[in-house]
Amino acid sequence: EELKGEASRNKNPRQVPGYHYSRIEPTPVRDPHLLAWSDDLGGFLGLARPEERGPAVNALAGNLVTESMKPFAARYGGHQFGHWAGQLGDGRAISLGELTAVDGSTWEIQLKGAGPTPYSRRADGRAVLRSSLREFLCSEAMYYLGVPTTRALSLVGTGDKVVRDMFYNGNAQEEPGAVVARVAPTFIRFGNFQMMAVAGEKDNLRALADYVIKHHYPELGEPSPEVYMRWFEEVCRRTAVMIAHWMSVGFVHGVMNTDNMSILGLTIDYGPYGWLEPYELDWTPNTTDFSSRRYAFGQQPQVALWNLYQLARAIAPLVHEPEALRGSLDQYTKTLAETQHAMMLRKLGLTELNQEEDRALIEGLHEAMAESQVDMTIFFRRLSHAAPALIASSENQNALFQEIVQAASYGTSPEGEQMLHQWLQRYTDRLHQESADPEAIRESMLSANPKYVLRNYLAQQAIEAAETGDLSVLNRLMEVLKTPFAEQPEHDELATKRPDWARTKAGCAT
Ligand code: AMP
Ligand code: MG
Ligand code: MG
Repeated sequence: EELKGEASRNKNPRQVPGYHYSRIEPTPVRDPHLLAWSDDLGGFLGLARPEERGPAVNALAGNLVTESMKPFAARYGGHQFGHWAGQLGDGRAISLGELTAVDGSTWEIQLKGAGPTPYSRRADGRAVLRSSLREFLCSEAMYYLGVPTTRALSLVGTGDKVVRDMFYNGNAQEEPGAVVARVAPTFIRFGNFQMMAVAGEKDNLRALADYVIKHHYPELGEPSPEVYMRWFEEVCRRTAVMIAHWMSVGFVHGVMNTDNMSILGLTIDYGPYGWLEPYELDWTPNTTDFSSRRYAFGQQPQVALWNLYQLARAIAPLVHEPEALRGSLDQYTKTLAETQHAMMLRKLGLTELNQEEDRALIEGLHEAMAESQVDMTIFFRRLSHAAPALIASSENQNALFQEIVQAASYGTSPEGEQMLHQWLQRYTDRLHQESADPEAIRESMLSANPKYVLRNYLAQQAIEAAETGDLSVLNRLMEVLKTPFAEQPEHDELATKRPDWARTKAGCAT
């Protein structure tokens, strides 16, 4: 309530100049029932796992709004695929308010798929089970990988049908609906600032910046033109760290519009995301981006910079020297390079010895992976296990090199495999300069290179089972992805190369 909200509860889509959000209540669904629950997050928020049906699940579906809840949908705009799209806003997400966690921190609880809002434009305000399950599973998996992200508390089936045009046949189809309760300190995006700036609402722009600094960047102190500068620099830094994480685990967001960029540097809005299987810089899971590949894996660092530039333009009226914001953009580039470098050294079990040489070694690895299109996750995992053997003897290691390459290769490029083979020789020579105990090197690499990621076809299998009422695949994935760095040999089959039949099962969903 520190920000200006529109009191009207009118659900009709409309422009709401002058406001940060609109008060709006979720639209009840027919038969809310719990499909999945995040025990850890629930515990952290002081919530016990609810029964399958009942008041708690009704609240998580939007059917029950208690006295203390103040539901709202936020107003924001954004650049979509590089073009200013005007007012967008929470068209199907409704925040219920905040909860205080056991450590005293506060968390916003937002229901995605909770019905129409003033920002729904021509759409229905709903979400299908397919996309909701994907958001639930992936945001939690990212959290356990150590990637900055929003979280998900619950996945609730609605008992209602939702009509969607399936991307692969273009026909309207009825699908089961669902609601995800997602959780973050705030869901404010770059686009909230852009909206105020484009509308020329400078007082609102400042109020929003002050709100975000006061509640989410308190360490920066009382807002002032200098503090806005330092705040922007911090947003740049956090965004760089987030992108470095994505690049190090092979996560492709798929739709990095400025309305999908968190002001806290969190991964937000899990839609048509995907995980890199063969290492391909221009791979995107987003079927609507197949021609331009704007949001492909290798584009992500550049796109985040472009998005930060748009944020800089939006907040420029708040600072004395807008030109100086460019310095923070340089900071982004610098932080990204340093963080990626440090992460890659960890993945390779190397300590900083010779910066120049190590940079060249890492560059060589990127080239060899791109050429060979190996499975990045499997490659690094195998390398971790092999480290002691690579250190043990420097002669006749060809068989071992061959074994590592074969384990990760999809067999698409013999030349690429040869490059990787040669790189492994370079890497082995470099590994010999490390003084740590080989077993310790292996352990540290295993803690930096996950065995389990949410491969696209695995999410798809969980969806297909859940649509028939079978939650066992979902439950198993939830359990395994909680400790993605642990061996869990009974789940080996979830850590293998993508099977050939799964090649086209991207599972793009909105
Ligand atoms: P996204 O591409 O998911 O980031 O969504 C872009 C915009 O479309 C946001 O303003 C969403 O709230 C809105 N939107 C997406 N799907 C729906 C839907 N089913 N109903 C209402 N608004 C939606
Ligand atoms: Mg969005
Ligand atoms: Mg979305």
